[in-house]
Formats: sequence, structure tokens, C-alpha cells
Amino acid sequence: MTIAFEDRSLSCRECGTTFVWTAGEQEFYHQKGLLHEPQRCPDCRKKAKAERAAARAANMHDVICSDCGKQAQVPFEPRMDRPVYCSECFETRRNAPPPAAAPPPA
Ligand SMILES: [Zn+2]
Ligand SMILES: [Zn+2]
Repeated sequence: MTIAFEDRSLSCRECGTTFVWTAGEQEFYHQKGLLHEPQRCPDCRKKAKAERAAARAANMHDVICSDCGKQAQVPFEPRMDRPVYCSECFETRRNAPPPAAAPPPA
């Protein structure tokens, strides 16, 4: 069974603007298994996304990297008893084998 999608007019819950939910978007929703039609117009969706990004940014904490001493930001409250690393040092450490696994010097 194939479902035929047709452009539909929806009104935005946020600003009341009528916007078109295109057949292509409906198909996309359908493929994603999303059962609910969009509640907001594209503009308001964009705004909501920007707000979420801003909220995330507001949650960032300035830290000084325990390794290289550079200023960095982490998305969690740094704990005094734990070292924090900038993203570069974090990556380096993650890719480096833990010191305990290193073979003893010959
Ligand atoms: Zn809107
Ligand atoms: Zn660093």
C-alpha cells in the first residue's frame, strides 16, 4: 500500500501563521516514523532550534585545561577534584593508551 502525500496547510501553534506542509516533508516524517504533524511554522522551528542552542551555550562552563593550560568550555559543571581537558587534549588522551597498559621499559 502506498500513501499519497499532498501539500497541506497547517497553522503555527506559536505565531498562528499558515504554512504549507509539503508532500515531500510529509514523506520525510513518515519515513522517520513521526506520527505528529509539525506544530510550528519553519520560522518558529528555526527560532526554537536557536533557543535550544543558546540554552546549551549558557550551560557551558569555562575551564582551564589541566594539560595544556588553555581556556576551554565544557558542557558540565567542572569538579575541583577532577582534571578537565580542552577538546584537543581530551581527544589526545582518549586515543592514547592508558599509562598502565604501557609495557615496562626493557
Ligand atoms: Zn510560527
Ligand atoms: Zn588542553
